[in-house]
Amino acid sequence: MKNELCVSCYEEITDPICLNCNLKHFDLWLKSTELPKNKKSLIKNKTKSIISKESLNEEKCILCKKNPVEICFSCLFSKIKNTLEKSPHLDGDVLESFDNSFNYSTHLEEPAPLMINGN
Ligand SMILES: [Zn+2]
Ligand SMILES: [Zn+2]
Repeated sequence: MKNELCVSCYEEITDPICLNCNLKHFDLWLKSTELPKNKKSLIKNKTKSIISKESLNEEKCILCKKNPVEICFSCLFSKIKNTLEKSPHLDGDVLESFDNSFNYSTHLEEPAPLMINGN
């Protein structure tokens, strides 16, 4: 079985989930924030244009089984965060809530420690 590669960092994608499915997760979070409606749709539109490259992969997403996987979660996470940080008048609470909602996955993407000598 071949590995999926991220279009952004070219690292192996450990959770083959497509952009669409990841953004659904993001949308849910966005809906749960107390941002005004127009700001929500602005952010939503921006996040849709985050990825401009074609997927490097043929394997389909494990959730929807339709779209190829494009980007790893940590790249997506930092790109969305970037977008949020650049959005004017977004208060710190929203960013903090974003961190809290999505952080659980970012640690999974960290490279495994090289030296586990144990015994
Ligand atoms: Zn990546
Ligand atoms: Zn999907």
